Amino acid sequence: MSAIEELQAELEATRQELELVTAEVASNDEKMRRTQQRELRLLQAETLDALIYALIDGLRVSYGLDYVSLVLADPDHDIRHLLLANGTPASDFAHLVMVESMTGLAPQYIALRQPWLGAFAPCDHQLICPGATDMASIAMIPLTHRGRLLGSINLCSRDAERFTRYHASDFMAHLGDVLTGWHNRRYLSVRLIEELARARRDGTRLVCLMLDIDHFKRVNDNWGHAAGDDVLREIAQRVEGQVRASDVAARYGGEEFVVLLPNTDVASALLLAERIRTAISELPVNLPNEEAITITASIGIAEVQPAPEADDLKTVGDSLIARADVALYAAKSAGRNRVVVEQG
Ligand code: GH3
Ligand code: MG
Ligand code: MG
Repeated sequence: MSAIEELQAELEATRQELELVTAEVASNDEKMRRTQQRELRLLQAETLDALIYALIDGLRVSYGLDYVSLVLADPDHDIRHLLLANGTPASDFAHLVMVESMTGLAPQYIALRQPWLGAFAPCDHQLICPGATDMASIAMIPLTHRGRLLGSINLCSRDAERFTRYHASDFMAHLGDVLTGWHNRRYLSVRLIEELARARRDGTRLVCLMLDIDHFKRVNDNWGHAAGDDVLREIAQRVEGQVRASDVAARYGGEEFVVLLPNTDVASALLLAERIRTAISELPVNLPNEEAITITASIGIAEVQPAPEADDLKTVGDSLIARADVALYAAKSAGRNRVVVEQG
């Protein structure tokens, strides 16, 4: 995919998110415009501090709220170190709450899997909303990954009717989803460097799988974009079902996925790739109109063992991804629905 195509795919995905979000929150053009700007800011945030800023201040401004906070579980201080390394310590963000664990912060966290909307109670919510005064209602949006609660975005208003239990909260569930459902390219680029550093330190290999769905355009062309999105979600789940918790899986482009396998050799990676390929192709995918279609995918594999003296891990990472992409291209040329290992 070229950079422009990628951008178009991202904008297309954003447009669809907007339709959903808009139906719920944007009752007029002005709100629509602000929602659009918020989505764009989230997409454009290149560093973690920019993303946090876009979340906390961006959501407050674009939704016209009185207070927004972000709670993140950071048991090993990874996020805090990353922020510090970027030059903005976590303590510089007024409404960012970093915690070792999510327990005991707010009663709702015990079972927070869906957004929780209701009355703001200082005794329940002061820990997750430091400095919030005179709030009357709150929406807590869980950030989860693989069933684990990683944090929450808390939207607060002085208007008691702004967030009530009867309020449709689909759009907020969707927001949480967009952010955490699948890791994105930005997350991948950070994790790739970390995994390369670990492999260099431990003298181990890092394997990269790059997967692209075969003839996916036809799905969109024949059954529409919404059906295409359903297929994409189903395929993402099938991939997710095969990877281990220690693997790093991310959505690389519209219908492209990358899986990083730490401390793995090519032979084991090949087995996993075949399992993923089979999980995708062996069962047809059900479409909303009850039709079922068989989907296949092609996978490229590349590996690297960073030398102890390798100091430019960004270049090492770029080259790993590029070589996996070359292998993917070879799999496509050889007829698709297959796995190819890059011979470098
Ligand atoms: P190939 O076998 O060569 O990969 O063929 P392809 O049709 O899959 O071609 P390519 O990978 O270049 O293009 C993928 C298409 O997937 C382009 C775009 O229309 C569609 N697409 C990308 N992201 C999304 C998405 O989020 N939702 C939907 N429905 N379609 C998407
Ligand atoms: Mg593609
Ligand atoms: Mg494709």
